[in-house]
Amino acid sequence: MRLVRLTPPGTTDFNRSTKKVRYMKKVGIIRCQQTEDICPGTMDFKVASQGKLAFEETGPVEVTGFVSCGGCPGKRAIARAKIMVERGATAIVFASCISRGNPISFPCPHYANMRDAVAKAVGPEIRIIEYTH
Ligand code: SF4
Repeated sequence: MRLVRLTPPGTTDFNRSTKKVRYMKKVGIIRCQQTEDICPGTMDFKVASQGKLAFEETGPVEVTGFVSCGGCPGKRAIARAKIMVERGATAIVFASCISRGNPISFPCPHYANMRDAVAKAVGPEIRIIEYTH
């Protein structure tokens, strides 16, 4: 079982007997604006909170932001990703609606450009995760 530290840095940890205490990672998720009407991101939040599928390596994560790309061709994703990093995200995740075309089997034709531009803007310290489920 994964254990998550609930007290913020600098505060008292009332759970000192727990040996595997660690901080929960924060991620920012970018989704396709074109699919907002047919998908509220339920599965994205589920796998993120449970540490499954794209989050198996990180374990359960806190979603610090869940934004759309801003519409075609996705240029607004860059500024939105930077804001999520400023708010604490250590990884930017592209939801499967973008990279895999869920749920209508239509992957984003601008994905590669959007991903590369976001990665360049947020810098090498920020991990890029290319799908959610
Ligand atoms: S740029 Fe891609 S992810 Fe954004 S709305 Fe258009 S198809 Fe969807």
